[in-house]
Amino acid sequence: MPTRKVDYLLIGGGLASGNCARWLREEGADGEVVVIGREPDPPYNRPECSKGYLRGEESREETYFRPNDFWEQQRIELLTRTSVSAVDVQARTATLSSKEEIEFDKALIATGANVRRLNVDGCQLDQIHYLRTLGNADTIRTAAEEAQQVVDILKKEGRVVDVHYYPNEGHGFVKRENQIDSIRRTIAWFDQYLMGKTPAP
Ligand SMILES: Cc1cc2nc3c(=O)[nH]c(=O)nc-3n(C[C@H](O)[C@H](O)[C@H](O)COP(=O)(O)OP(=O)(O)OC[C@H]3O[C@@H](n4cnc5c(N)ncnc54)[C@H](O)[C@@H]3O)c2cc1C
Repeated sequence: MPTRKVDYLLIGGGLASGNCARWLREEGADGEVVVIGREPDPPYNRPECSKGYLRGEESREETYFRPNDFWEQQRIELLTRTSVSAVDVQARTATLSSKEEIEFDKALIATGANVRRLNVDGCQLDQIHYLRTLGNADTIRTAAEEAQQVVDILKKEGRVVDVHYYPNEGHGFVKRENQIDSIRRTIAWFDQYLMGKTPAP
């Protein structure tokens, strides 16, 4: 049995849900809006995971789609660290990881995408990282600081022109910047060559 009923249930805690919630209010929707996301953070600008946040130039809060008080001011309820495990479209209900069942009038499913995982020898190694969330970016930054060796892949006009290996000689800021830069270039390379995408500037 549903424990409550809401007007708009936005499933997924990314930019799509964040924007939908914002637009609902901007367009005058007055009903109860609930956003459900399984990550610990409110909706944030995911591209910053591989840009300013990864480089340490932006704080976690600066990546947020809206400041923390926005949600309360707009009467938008945010349920973070919560997954929707089932949706019954006929009954208009959603079951949450907390076992709560919510009835909705309208729902948006904006659960985004997941990382494509490598399936090659060695893909289970601890040193293989994936980048999709702020938490992943934290892990990569820590790994970069603790790394004993850095691989720098240099690219020119979309082609790999040089690969450098060098030991990590310290944890100073400049050194770390080099490492993060190196990681960004590697990511750009992966983006372009393995996923067939042109990286954003
Ligand atoms: C590292 C990186 C860099 C990027 N850089 C760029 C860029 O430079 N330019 C650009 O245009 N795009 C970029 N993108 C793509 C862009 O971030 C996405 O297009 C955008 O985030 C899509 O937003 P979304 O809300 O649809 O999905 P998502 O951002 O994937 O958000 C979906 C959310 O729903 C949550 N969720 C999933 N299933 C459930 C469930 N069952 N219950 C509750 N919550 C759930 C997920 O955990 C996630 O938080 C980048 C993406 C990444 C990962």
